[in-house]
Formats: sequence, structure tokens, C-alpha cells
Amino acid sequence: MPVKVTSTIRTVTQPQPPPRVTSAARDRAAGGALLVRDGYVITMDPATGDVPGGDVLVRGGAIAAVGTGLAVPAGARVIDAAGMIVAPGLVDTHWHMWNTLLRGMSEGGPGYFRACRSLGPAFGPRDVYQGTLLACAEAIDAGITTVHDWAHNIRGPEHAEAGLDALAGAGLRARFSYGYAAAQPNDRAMDLAGLRRLHADWGRRAAGGLLALGMAWRGPGGSDPAMHVAAAVYRPEYDTARELGIPVTIHACGPPRAAGQIEVLAGERLLWPGLQVVHANCATPAEIGHLAAAGATVSLSPFSELLIGYGLPKTADLLGAGVTAGLSADTTALTGNADMFAIMKVTQGLANAVAHDEFALTARRTLALATIDGARCLGLDAVTGSLTPGKRADLIVVSPDAPNLGVLTDPVRLLVTAAQPRNVHTVIADGRVLKDRGALTTLDAARIGRDARQALDGVVARSGSARH
Ligand SMILES: [Zn+2]
Repeated sequence: MPVKVTSTIRTVTQPQPPPRVTSAARDRAAGGALLVRDGYVITMDPATGDVPGGDVLVRGGAIAAVGTGLAVPAGARVIDAAGMIVAPGLVDTHWHMWNTLLRGMSEGGPGYFRACRSLGPAFGPRDVYQGTLLACAEAIDAGITTVHDWAHNIRGPEHAEAGLDALAGAGLRARFSYGYAAAQPNDRAMDLAGLRRLHADWGRRAAGGLLALGMAWRGPGGSDPAMHVAAAVYRPEYDTARELGIPVTIHACGPPRAAGQIEVLAGERLLWPGLQVVHANCATPAEIGHLAAAGATVSLSPFSELLIGYGLPKTADLLGAGVTAGLSADTTALTGNADMFAIMKVTQGLANAVAHDEFALTARRTLALATIDGARCLGLDAVTGSLTPGKRADLIVVSPDAPNLGVLTDPVRLLVTAAQPRNVHTVIADGRVLKDRGALTTLDAARIGRDARQALDGVVARSGSARH
């Protein structure tokens, strides 16, 4: 029998764990069942569709059932989502989380790449930790439950561990793509021995399965105009990733060397389903065909692509060719924030503008890019991206109780065009509540801000002394 619940959120019989929890595994073990009740449930699973007045039952960190009138298990926590939207947690597919410390610092002369090259070398492990943690707090606050940490400032093993510590402490699901260092010489490979050690030790670092390991690869040159990497350097890197069986991600975008980057990868037979290409703004029809044929995926980051001048995302061309694509924040040094609602909105708007068609890219298709397709883009669609029984419980509850919403008309369209991070009422990742009634539970946002400002002061001071 369903239990009548009158308060917005209440515990039915058992006391809840304390609000500050540091171990996802412990939380899952102690947390028991959780029922998100009576919301407008957007499952993004074609077999189920939307369920108005629907419930989502979570057990042991997994989705146990989606339906209406589900019974409340004994001891379950109930989250009353009446009048609210319940959706899969949003999925970011490419984010340089460490440089969130440099938010808004890409203008004023140097530009994004030069800012990273001048300040990145001054980052110690603690600074990587603070930048990544700030990004994690922003992600959770904005309803993002899966991130792809594109870690391209690994200056030593401690830098990688610092990023992983921040991700694990936050409780997000993540792919951690181990990369090179900011301003790394083109003739020097990334620390492959360090990657091998991390891979061998991954069981200890994976936060109970929340974290997955990948490689952030320069390839022949990536997107930084200063990067020209020889095959003698980039091939052993790639071969190491394939030997270890981990996915690979690479930037391919932007003038002046955009045309042909994907052609080079195709020519060397380096495209495969585990390869994610970031941006692909300048991909030719033939290159898009190569991506589709190989099953390689694409991460679109419209705000950074617009602001840095890469041109328009080729969303319609990629989707039309059958390429799996996801959306991404890329870097808040350039874009300012990581608001996936705004990223969805600009993605839909640009696609319609390019097509001169109000209906070229629907809101639901856009939401798919930020959920199930984003999960596919990371190879995580068996785990997350839709509210499907058996998948891990990554979901958000969005309240209309703010002036920018106020009414619940078309819930999917509202998520894509109207919602903002402040409307995110509850965030659950792997069955664990990370945002509860608008407040972060695993992270102290005020303290993270203070620590970030202090860390940035140190980075700027050290980089200044290094320049003189
Ligand atoms: Zn990037």
C-alpha cells in the first residue's frame, strides 16, 4: 500500500544518514530505498516515455521501478515531486574541470589557449583539486550527474590523484580522461607510465564504480594552434590506450588546421567507437561519414565554439549521418559557466537557425543529447542517461516554483528553454542525494569558493614570479 505523504520530503520510518557523507559506498549501503513520487517523469527511455504523476523507486543505488502508485518500501525515504519535473541527470561529455579556477580569464589579451599555457604550469595538485571541486559543485547545483573530466593539466601523479579525489568526494559519476600537461612540449609524450600505474590501481580509485578511466589525447595536434605533435609521439600514446582497453578523446576543431584532422585519424585507422571527437565544427561531409562508419562519437560544446570562433556546431549533419553526439561545458575559463540548460537551449536554437526551420531540432531530441545520447557518447548508456529499471539512479527533480518557470506546460520544452540551475530542487547520483531541496549535501559551496579564490591567488602569484 502506498503511504500517504503530506510533507514535501520526509522520512517514513528510519532516520536519514547525516547530511555530510564522504563515502558513496557507505551511503549506498546505509541509504536503503528511496521513492521519488508523483512527478512528471521524463524517462528518456522509448519503451516507457513520459509518466505523468509517476514514481521512481531507487534501491541500492539503482532504479528498481518506474510507474504510478508504486508502494513505499518500509524504511524508504520519500521525495514528493508532485508538481515537479523528474528527469535523468544531465550528462556533460567534455569539461576541463581543473581550469574552472580560471573562470572568465580567457579574455584581455592572451585568449584561452595562452591563458592555459601561462597559468597551467603554476598549478600544484591542490590547485587542480580546488578547480575540479568547484566544477563538481557547479555540476551538482546545475543538475549534471555525469561529467567527463578532460584532465589536460597532469603535471605528475599527484595532479591526477587530486582531480580524482575531488570527483570521488563530490559523488558524481565521471569519466576521468588522463591527459598531458598544460604547455607540454610537442615532442614529449604524456606520462604513460603514470597512466599505466593509475590503470593498474584503478580498483582503488574508481569510487565504487562511479569513476571510469580514459585518455585525453592530443593526437596530431588537437585544437590548440601551438600544438603540432609528431606520429612518433602520438601513436605510442594511442596504442597504450588501446592496449589498456580505455576510451580515447581528442579535440578536432577550429581554423587554421581544422580541415583534415578527422581525415588523418581515419587514414591511420584510429577511429573506433571508443574514440570521442570534441567539436568537429569543421568536419567535411566525408569526415562525418568516417565518424559514422567507425562509430566514433562527437562532443559538442556550443558556447565555447561560439566564443572562441570555431563557427557553428554541425549538429544536424552529425545526427543526420547517425553519429552519436553529446553536449559539453568544455571550459568555464572561456564560457563562464556550465549551465547545461543553457547549452541545450543554444544547441536547439543554432540548429534551427542553420536550418531556417523552427522545427529542425526538437526540444526532446535536444534533451536526449544532454541525457541518453551524452551517456552513449561516453560509453555509459548501459549505466545512466535514462530512467530505466536496472540502470544506476542518476536523476534530477526540477521545481517550477520560481519566476522563470511558474507554470508546467510542456515539461520537456521547459527543461530545454526555460529552466536554470536554480530550479534544480533535488539531484541524485548513483542513488545518493547530492542536492536536497536546493542545497548541496556532499560539498560546502561557500568554503569551496573561499578555497578556490585562495588557490587562484597562489597560481597567479607563482605564474607571475615564473615569468620574471
Ligand atoms: Zn576542450
